[in-house]
Amino acid sequence: MTDILTASESTALAEHEAVIELGLTTFVEVGNALYVIREERLYRSEHGTFEDYCRERWGFSDSRARQLVGAAQTVTNVTAAGLPAPTNEGQARELSRVPERERTAVWAETVERTDGKPTAAAVRDTYEQRQQRPAPDEPPRDADLFAGEDWVQQEDPAPEQDLARPAPPRLRPDPVMLTLRTHKGDPVPYPKPQSKPTFNSTPGAGISWANWSWNPVTGCLHGCDYCYARELATSERLKTAYPAGFTPLFHEQRLDAPAHTVIPTEYRDDAHQACSDGECKICAYRRVFVCSMADLYGRWVPDEWIQQVHASMCANPQWQYITLTKFPGRYVGLEMPPGAWVGTSVDEQKRVRIAEDAFRKIEGGAVKWLSLEPLLEPLEFTDLSMFDWVVIGAQTQTHQPSGTVPAFAPPFEWVARIVLQAREAGCKVHLKPNLINGRPGMQFPNEYPDA
Ligand code: SF4
Repeated sequence: MTDILTASESTALAEHEAVIELGLTTFVEVGNALYVIREERLYRSEHGTFEDYCRERWGFSDSRARQLVGAAQTVTNVTAAGLPAPTNEGQARELSRVPERERTAVWAETVERTDGKPTAAAVRDTYEQRQQRPAPDEPPRDADLFAGEDWVQQEDPAPEQDLARPAPPRLRPDPVMLTLRTHKGDPVPYPKPQSKPTFNSTPGAGISWANWSWNPVTGCLHGCDYCYARELATSERLKTAYPAGFTPLFHEQRLDAPAHTVIPTEYRDDAHQACSDGECKICAYRRVFVCSMADLYGRWVPDEWIQQVHASMCANPQWQYITLTKFPGRYVGLEMPPGAWVGTSVDEQKRVRIAEDAFRKIEGGAVKWLSLEPLLEPLEFTDLSMFDWVVIGAQTQTHQPSGTVPAFAPPFEWVARIVLQAREAGCKVHLKPNLINGRPGMQFPNEYPDA
């Protein structure tokens, strides 16, 4: 059945349709515009039902329209809670599948777990992790405010439910605050996490050799101008997660993450031995990059921070911990967890001797490794035989507080020379995806013979 619109309704319909027409990639505006058209029945002059309208006017299926509205509603939910908005529809759609009462917490945890680079897969991973965790000791949040509501997402929600008007911002109790300490002992208030700590999943190629990162310490004083960790920690959108910016900060509340992180069932196999298959998911799910947002062994780091992190690692030997520092001398004399991969980062020639001297003395750890990422100079090592594994990578562009630092692609010869020396020394070699098939890649020779 069709109906005639009033003048103001016609204007409203035209405005909302303009949003849809002009902004088909801005899923939030489109979802909200569809929502209003449906709720106000602005489609009725030309179309019998909202489903007909979507199909005939826009070529949307009914389910596509519901996806868009659901994604827009989800963005409204999380931004009302003061969190950064999902940046693409895939993230928002995945989040919309999470029961609403958990949605904000799942998103907040995902943003933190991924160091501010959430993906749809990371949202799913966070939710699955939370499902497998023991129930938190504390009573359910907002129990009184939410009493009587059915928060369980329907498998196949009816249109009326799915297209419900985006909820107004809910009143949330003020968070309980912790006091964290910087390396100088200065207090930094930090909201108490609402769930037990776990590792962050690391989807994507940024950390291509580990499935998790864990940051009981954040911040670094080393001052590398290309530092991706500083870019994240000083960004406006992550200032809640990094209240001290890139100043070294001890997150004591994260020390229990090794005990609370659960390996998904499909990747659990206690009988599986560590193997050298780079594609082996069972091995990858045991590898944890420790302090991807810091240098845990920096000169400024208090001994007790290192001792507490190592105590947590040694008490949870089910994980394969991967450490990395530009101050490898600090490894000497430390108790390393069994199976640890102990690494040092060398970007310039001046660090080569420091790395070689330290690694001749280091005891413990299953794997000694050398990270040449970014490779900024042609490096000359006297010996690579003290390393088991060599990783080489390029410098990707970052946006630092002081401005943009451009990408740098090392020439092929610099890379090839290290690869040959590593092979002769019996090392395994890993070329980072940003070197071989990403940006900036590697500067390949492009020569032609003299005619
Ligand atoms: S040592 Fe690592 S964490 Fe520290 S500034 Fe350099 S790149 Fe960043």
